[in-house]
Amino acid sequence: MSLSASESALVTVTGASGFIAVHCVRELLSRGYRVRGTLRDRSDEAKVREALRSVDAGDRLSFVEAELLDDRGWQAAVEGAELVLHVASPVPNAKPKSDDELIRPAREGALRVLRAAREAGVKRVVMTSSMAAVSSGRPRGEHVFDENDWSDLDRPTGAYEKSKTLAERAAWDFVRESGGPELVALNPVFVLGPSLLGVHNTSNEIVRKLIRREIPGVPRWQLGVVDVRDVATAHVLAMTAEQAAGERFILVSDIVWMKQIAEVLASAGYKVPRFEVPSFVVHLIALFDPAARLILDQLGQPFQASNEKAKKLLGWSGRGMKEMVLDTAASIESVGKA
Ligand code: NDP
Repeated sequence: MSLSASESALVTVTGASGFIAVHCVRELLSRGYRVRGTLRDRSDEAKVREALRSVDAGDRLSFVEAELLDDRGWQAAVEGAELVLHVASPVPNAKPKSDDELIRPAREGALRVLRAAREAGVKRVVMTSSMAAVSSGRPRGEHVFDENDWSDLDRPTGAYEKSKTLAERAAWDFVRESGGPELVALNPVFVLGPSLLGVHNTSNEIVRKLIRREIPGVPRWQLGVVDVRDVATAHVLAMTAEQAAGERFILVSDIVWMKQIAEVLASAGYKVPRFEVPSFVVHLIALFDPAARLILDQLGQPFQASNEKAKKLLGWSGRGMKEMVLDTAASIESVGKA
């Protein structure tokens, strides 16, 4: 059953200049919705419109300036909207100077969006949380992570993982205490896939580093992957499926060792490093490479997570890793050539 009878409903998408959000906006526009995107820098509007040139947005797309750390703009962003996709949150490619650089915008921003949505009578907010709010600080191995799991912030965890966990927890507390709006949290694993913006984004860095041979070999690292186009579809399903209200959903299509990603690229003709680097070497590399530091505590450990709930309640499925890895590589190769 569909939540919104009208596909011409207005949907607000926060952080419309981001890798995932632009795909969400495209998905919404191509299904006939009206979209209001928030940008923290209004001058990004031309870039986002250019990224969406393949859909006929007509006058269905508008923008409002809003910054997660500032109250201004959020009421205007959600006024008249039936639904909100809250996607904006900082995604760093290196360790920040202080945890608060990420935690404050993530947590306070989510509360600003929810408060404004409640005041404006928005029916449902879909929040882009993360696997980082599910499995961080928790032992990997035998356990298959599902939606009942929460990251353990009493154990050592990175600033990004803290920011996503605290933001999602704050969001659930808010709707429980104030009685609304409806909330759905999506918890994607590592998101790969084509960037519509023609720039390099943080999560595609693992493929970029391989095809640019910026790493000497592949770390013994197992990760869940999901395609950005399937993440966008999940946002629309989460927004419209009646039974999704009050639920979180893990979005994972495939679970792979990084060596398998390298092998897919090599089989398509990319000259990539394929041998697995011993974990102690990754520890040494991490002394100089902040990106390597982000995965140290996961090296060598198997990872398992279930997508059963998203399949069952949302009717969602994601494409396989070969297609997403090759489309990611093609997108990286095209950056700067458009
Ligand atoms: P991007 O960095 O491409 O997008 C992040 C968006 O958030 C950008 O639009 C950015 O604006 C905006 N933003 C960041 N800080 C602020 C702020 N202080 N005020 C207003 N806007 C802000 O990352 P992704 O598209 O990959 O991530 C989108 C969401 O998905 C995030 O919530 C992230 O945590 C989540 N996610 C991502 C995964 C991935 O692998 N990529 C995995 C799981 C979850 P600007 O363009 O101005 O910087």
